[in-house]
Amino acid sequence: MSQARLATCVPLPLEQKVLVNVIEKAKDWALMHGVGMRDRKHFTKDSIQIAPFVLLPSPFPKTEFTKAVELQPVLNELMHKVAHDVEFLEETLQNALQVDEFTASLYDIWVKVREEGVAQPISLGMLRSDIMLESRCPHTENQCVKHTPYCSWKQVEINSIASGFGHLGPVSREIQSYILRQLGHGDLLKNMPENRALSGLCSGITEAFDLFGVPDAVVLFVVEEVSYNICDQRFHEFEISETRPDIQIHRKTLNEIYEETSLNDKKQLMLDGRPVAVVYYRSGYEPAQYPSNREWEARLRVERSTAIKCPSIHYQLAGTKKVQQALASTGVLEKFMGKGAATSRVRDIFTGLYSLDFDESGERAVEMAIQDAERFVLKPQREGGGNNVYGAEVREALIRMRHSRERAAYILMERILPPLVSGYVVRPGAAVPPPLVDLVSELGIFGVIIGTRDKIYSNKQVGHMLRTKLADANEGGVAAGLGALDSPFLL
Ligand code: ADP
Ligand code: MG
Ligand code: MG
Repeated sequence: MSQARLATCVPLPLEQKVLVNVIEKAKDWALMHGVGMRDRKHFTKDSIQIAPFVLLPSPFPKTEFTKAVELQPVLNELMHKVAHDVEFLEETLQNALQVDEFTASLYDIWVKVREEGVAQPISLGMLRSDIMLESRCPHTENQCVKHTPYCSWKQVEINSIASGFGHLGPVSREIQSYILRQLGHGDLLKNMPENRALSGLCSGITEAFDLFGVPDAVVLFVVEEVSYNICDQRFHEFEISETRPDIQIHRKTLNEIYEETSLNDKKQLMLDGRPVAVVYYRSGYEPAQYPSNREWEARLRVERSTAIKCPSIHYQLAGTKKVQQALASTGVLEKFMGKGAATSRVRDIFTGLYSLDFDESGERAVEMAIQDAERFVLKPQREGGGNNVYGAEVREALIRMRHSRERAAYILMERILPPLVSGYVVRPGAAVPPPLVDLVSELGIFGVIIGTRDKIYSNKQVGHMLRTKLADANEGGVAAGLGALDSPFLL
């Protein structure tokens, strides 16, 4: 069976001369509007290079896009409830904690903070639900009964920490609009949905700041030692600086937070003599970001404080792959959402998700994946890309871990097979014109939710981002150099 394919927004290939010309213009547009990243090979703070981008917007079915946008507040609320369900998180994570030191360290902080008494009951969730179109139809094995190259979309994961592309998402629409206009296709812009992700996400930070209610407080961005994806962070700062000039933003690494902050007797997190109202993590989601005990100490200090955290530690735990898998188990969604229509809408977005615990269903999942490895992705409790296992390696890994407790740190997920689309990817330093290649896309929908366990102050869908990668690549992280920025062209 050949893989399903979506039609491109304009006929391809483009004429060579036209292509070369428009890419030259587009690269300059990119550099001059922050479609950029720092150069990993020759890092310097004095320059930015273009971020890889797809020349023309990739098609995405309008009905499926609308469904995703409309479902986001439901997913926000679900995550909020999960994050506040102590018993559920304890039970869901207990086996993984035995073998996954990183998740266990996060969990320990959560336990300590609860024992001491939570100083800040309000959490700020800036979530991103990532989805892919599924080309296979569960009913017919090959062609969808709707006779479309896709059947529906399925959720890849939901991110609760450092959900990036609030700037790069919207600006991808702008650069592709510019390119379409240059190619004489300005009429097609009507198919490119508005994207206010940057202002929407920043409104989460400013609303949380106002709820904190201390006018001379500051906002703290927790950043990596080296931020390659710098545009996507700075534009948040620029946006807040414009809309809320009264709010001062600091950028600090966890190590600097260890050195420069303290808790006062009211448990305020103090930085340069002012309390921190909101802590926004753009780092802190992977083990390498905690090279010593100092970073863990810093994290604990922030969690103990009155600052509103994005995310609070329990939100980060709710974003683990293990929790996603548990939510797909029988009866679990009903426990959080009741039995109504919203519950079946959420159930529909799950593809097969299996626990690898040492019980009957775990054993069945191991056997199933060893038999048919290509059908699955093996995922540890990690974020940031590059951690999953695919294809034949799923079999090898499961045979190796079959009798080891290590396997409980993973979940097994059915591999989604998105429809192909042809396109050109423009990369820094690559030959121009690029070849016309087969691509697949992953759409991310942003959500903002602010609340305590019992009261929700704000819950909204705020925008989207599209990342596209070569059809035969397993993963598509843009900062990792695999994926490319893109935006949806609604059909
Ligand atoms: P991370 O938290 O590290 O981003 P993901 O679950 O998003 O982990 O996996 C990383 C990437 O792997 C995704 O962006 C997607 O390209 C690919 N991927 C993950 N799960 C699936 C799946 N079930 N089917 C197809 N591709 C997947
Ligand atoms: Mg993730
Ligand atoms: Mg991901």
